[in-house]
Amino acid sequence: MQFIDLAAQQKRIRAQIEAGFRKILDHGQYILGPEIQEIEQKLAAYVGMPHAVSVASGTDALLMPLMAEKTGPGDAVFVPTFTFIASAGAVALTGATPVFVDIDPETFNIDPASLEKAVQKTIAAKKLTPRGIMPVDLFGQPADYKAIQAIADKHRLFVLEDAAQSFGSSQEGRKAGALARVAGTSFFPAKPLGCYGDGGMIFTSDKDTLERLLSIRVHGQGADKYTNVRVGINGRMDSLQAAVLLAKMEIFPEEIGMRQEAAARYDQLLVGAVKTPRILPGNVSAWAQYSVLHPRRDEVIRRLRENGIPTAIYYPIPLHLQEAFSHLGYREGDFPVAERIAGEIFSLPMHPYIEKADQERIAAIISSCK
Ligand SMILES: *Cc1c(COP(=O)(O)O)cnc(C)c1O
Repeated sequence: MQFIDLAAQQKRIRAQIEAGFRKILDHGQYILGPEIQEIEQKLAAYVGMPHAVSVASGTDALLMPLMAEKTGPGDAVFVPTFTFIASAGAVALTGATPVFVDIDPETFNIDPASLEKAVQKTIAAKKLTPRGIMPVDLFGQPADYKAIQAIADKHRLFVLEDAAQSFGSSQEGRKAGALARVAGTSFFPAKPLGCYGDGGMIFTSDKDTLERLLSIRVHGQGADKYTNVRVGINGRMDSLQAAVLLAKMEIFPEEIGMRQEAAARYDQLLVGAVKTPRILPGNVSAWAQYSVLHPRRDEVIRRLRENGIPTAIYYPIPLHLQEAFSHLGYREGDFPVAERIAGEIFSLPMHPYIEKADQERIAAIISSCK
């Protein structure tokens, strides 16, 4: 059994991908070829944002908007402590300080009450200037943007949505990628929409941000490539990756539907065996992961492994306890919810092509771990 079955998906679209690759081999525009514009337009329309900028990775999709906001030394950007390292890593790469925030025990997303407290504390300490908030749509479920935007407006902070795991999800009918003024997503192969390498996309409703991003993507170019108005990066996505995404988008909405069915089956099969995910009313998850809680997690994982069933732990160590951020002076006990969840959480095989029989077998094994 596979944790994520990319081969089953490839079987459906292999011919389209090969045709796309062949077209690129013929026209030879490997960088910023016509496929790039095509996928940007397609995904901007899908998400419902006016502008999309394709980039080299999900990490660049977070780093570049921060560069566009000119965050740097002395600035604070608020990030949940329970997320992938790249969220806070992007903040640190600009020289700014990630200020960690605890999570909601039900959704695992940034807790608005802890966020408000962290902002107040940062203001009172007078060491850092609060600049922005980076909510993460963990495991595919959008964070609480209504509460977050209210806090952002009150303190005049920007909101940068980390939609790396949530492409295809929605909140009150609005798609992830359109839940803040700027959002970044990832096309790492294992994400809900993945390419065959690294890739990402930034969405924004702001024309000035768009212009800065286009410049930052090509080394801070001005009127042309050799007139440089700022320091940028090489943040471009390959035409070949765009071709993969174009083929995958043909079946992506259907796949999001298949993920809902798979998640609903798990929900039903796992009642009483583990704590199953809670999706808030108004949210539709992209189900990047199906993550559950069990007080004796390691034992359950071992039993599943003995039966040939792969699992993963996202995330065993909250970011405030990572060595990479030890200089920030956080301690165990600072974020009790994230620390407890990190000790009990694990993720089950999840993808659109998972078989009902496999899910039943997984549930039976977990249920036998009493
Ligand atoms: C995957 C991921 C990223 C980074 O994306 P890459 O494409 O791997 O650079 C950032 N944030 C979160 C929450 C992620 O899951």
